[in-house]
Amino acid sequence: MKRCAQCILPANYPRISFDKDGVCNFCREYRKVNFQGDEKLIEFIRSFTTRDSQYDCLIGYSGGRDSSYLLYYISKVLKLRVIAYHFDHGLIPEQTRQNVRRGAEILGVPLIIEESDLLKKCVSHHIEAWITRPHPGLIGMLCTGCRLGTDRGLFKTARKFKTNYIAYGGHRLEGGAFKLALMKGNLENRLGNLNIFLTYGKEILKNPKWISHPSSALIQFQEFLFHFSPLRRILEKMQYSSVKSSSPFGTHIPWEERKVVETIQKELDWKNPDYGESTWRSDCKISLLKSYMYKEILGFNDKEDGLSCLIRDGQITREEALIRAERENLVSFSMIEEFLGELKVDNSRFQAALKRAKEEYNRKEAD
Ligand SMILES: [Zn+2]
Repeated sequence: MKRCAQCILPANYPRISFDKDGVCNFCREYRKVNFQGDEKLIEFIRSFTTRDSQYDCLIGYSGGRDSSYLLYYISKVLKLRVIAYHFDHGLIPEQTRQNVRRGAEILGVPLIIEESDLLKKCVSHHIEAWITRPHPGLIGMLCTGCRLGTDRGLFKTARKFKTNYIAYGGHRLEGGAFKLALMKGNLENRLGNLNIFLTYGKEILKNPKWISHPSSALIQFQEFLFHFSPLRRILEKMQYSSVKSSSPFGTHIPWEERKVVETIQKELDWKNPDYGESTWRSDCKISLLKSYMYKEILGFNDKEDGLSCLIRDGQITREEALIRAERENLVSFSMIEEFLGELKVDNSRFQAALKRAKEEYNRKEAD
């Protein structure tokens, strides 16, 4: 398989192009960021603190590696007053539940856990809809309900504790351009976002099963309104005008994988769920299922993407990335089988749909 000469992205990565030296457009366009550092971050977070604030910062805490590190960093290193919010959508590995409680306990951070059935209500139906007409761009739909629940829960908790700053653990070394491209989106131009909804709309017309279940349709609509649509900002401003949310990894502190993983293992006794070798996105069974699906259809998944970002950032070598990708892009088949059983989805029909999607993707690639 042909790959970029600098990173490990394969030639069938959507919208990839190579220069005469075999280097991809993503590597050529990569720019380093100057981070503002701890003092500026403390100043920034404190700028939202008022006399009534019970905490300086609310952390969206999934129990994955990034939010666990963030919890440690802001409470222990920066010594700010922190509260953690964990959204339990019911499809979380048991190990992650333990990590969540243990991390907060070790750090002495108050922990709010909210259980919700939003995701569970529609996920089996969404997998069935996907099987009916498999499209790699719509794999992201399997998360419907989680985004809505997490957003709402975070803002409500912030208001309850009069805490005006929400930190979450996303960062720019996660990649993800391929997922947008599969939906024909491009966030760099303003119409890119619109294309995603056009692709979504077209797919719904071709496969109305996506919205044939009342809970699914309602949750999709609400999630569109509160998470994706331009109305989101206006609605948030109306309800939570004083609350600001961002990821400090994007602006103030660098995200260094080795440091993140070593720190949480040492300081929080964090353990990886036993479903694969990657410590990334292992905190949610849907996330693992999605990684499995991308790998089966495209031949690669978010792991190649993330590892390529680490090469560009100078954190690992290309040789290391190639070795790691082979191990880390695999998700345990028995986990998938068991999980589909839990969701009452027939695995052989699911596997047949993956195969159809793969053939279709390769056919389009060849065109
Ligand atoms: Zn590259």
